[in-house]
Amino acid sequence: MKDRYLDFVNSPFGTSIARSLGLPRPEVLRRHRADQAEFGGMAAIGAGPSPALFDDLMAVLSAIGMTGIAHESASGWLPVAARHGAMSGRFEPRSRDASATDRVEALIFDATGIGESAQLHSLYAFFHDALRSLAKNGRIVVLGRPPATRSSVRAATAQHALEGMVRSLGKEARNGITSNLLRAADGADVESALRFFLSPRSAYVSGQVVTIDAPADAPPSWAKPLAGKRALVTGAARGIGASIAAVLAEHGAIVTGLDIDAARDALDQTMLAIEDASPSSGAHAALVADIAAPETPAEIAAALAASGGIDIVVHNAGITRDKTIARMTADMWDSVIDINLLAQERIDDVLLAQNVLRAGGRIVAVSSISGIAGNRGQTNYATSKAGVIGRVHAMAPLLRERGITINAVAPGFIETHMTARMPFGVREAGRRLNSMGQGGLPVDVAETVAWLASPGSAGITGNVVRVCGQSLIGA
Ligand code: NAD
Repeated sequence: MKDRYLDFVNSPFGTSIARSLGLPRPEVLRRHRADQAEFGGMAAIGAGPSPALFDDLMAVLSAIGMTGIAHESASGWLPVAARHGAMSGRFEPRSRDASATDRVEALIFDATGIGESAQLHSLYAFFHDALRSLAKNGRIVVLGRPPATRSSVRAATAQHALEGMVRSLGKEARNGITSNLLRAADGADVESALRFFLSPRSAYVSGQVVTIDAPADAPPSWAKPLAGKRALVTGAARGIGASIAAVLAEHGAIVTGLDIDAARDALDQTMLAIEDASPSSGAHAALVADIAAPETPAEIAAALAASGGIDIVVHNAGITRDKTIARMTADMWDSVIDINLLAQERIDDVLLAQNVLRAGGRIVAVSSISGIAGNRGQTNYATSKAGVIGRVHAMAPLLRERGITINAVAPGFIETHMTARMPFGVREAGRRLNSMGQGGLPVDVAETVAWLASPGSAGITGNVVRVCGQSLIGA
């Protein structure tokens, strides 16, 4: 559904009306486009004491064609740049009246060495100087350590404190700027996450904390990271699922899209459009099945085993049956829990028991911010979606030895059939009550799923990443 307010206040006429009336003007978010460079420009680098990730960061910036310039807090950056033979320079804080061309595309702060809370002052020093220099749709990334891996209580405390800083920066920055914290364990590979969070693909992901706890192999190609992978997407006929199927295919995967019989035509059309956009010699497939039916997991396993197994499972299919608990029928409760949660358990049980999901595989489950915050009239839905998160946490350690990761994405307000059915007031509140001042698009969820499914994301498991524009709900 179109967001007419966003379109209006960004039109030539609407801009001046919004300005004169003091109306909020949400930024038109820059999303990935095949005809536009994904990265470029300069990143201002800041750091606390003993930053550990300068070499990794330098390697990634060089690979993606960005230049890192050093704030005075990051004096060690220049020698690292020289060692890598990379361009660099010093970051000069921008004055209020400087021109828009002086801006940097990203602010990156290496906080890995912060071992006690007094050292958090270095964050103040950097962001106080640098926030004003960040361009529209810019990126803030703070690199820290998982608090539980620190050897002292003080270090764990200071590392945890980074969360508050990153989330507040996301709320202050506006202008389509995102702010996220990557907690990298010793030896973890930050490239996949850095690429995602510095790119336009993460346009609607802000205020998130992601833990990376193991090394990863770089994909053979960052342009097609899923080349040679096979993926299953449930609920692929329309909405978020159709977009996930399309983006996985665009990243190189061969996709089986699953949906119910009633959506057969839409599913066929979706898969044909995907074949046109990302040809696979006819290997993308449509699978008609109801995930509520007890025989479906075995049917899915048989269909996927016939093509040699699968690497990526995306549990996207979901329904809502909203009513306050006193008015809710038992059937409304049961059907939502069954489709949104129990079906994921049944399908994974079979795919894992029969090794149809291959070693090194990826499971990505679609949850919801309702599962984090709860929502009036959605006891059934929020319970099912919180269960999805619980499952991700509980299964991640069990799947580790097979090299399989499991993560959840939790969308906020996304423009789909599901949200178009909401009453006007609830819909407008969902759209505006987040740091981006607008709803997300299905592609925002799809890009996040594709990043988690990448071979480069092998070190990311047991995480819940909200795709909600930093919604005030569940924040
Ligand atoms: P949608 O209703 O547009 O699409 C859901 C798809 O799942 C449909 O194609 C439907 O036919 C399919 N499906 C439903 N029951 C099925 C079953 N039993 N077997 C097989 N397929 C089935 O919904 P959407 O907005 O695209 O949502 C996709 C997922 O994202 C859901 O899990 C939803 O809970 C979640 N989500 C959506 C939003 C949002 O704002 N739209 C927010 C948070 C979470």
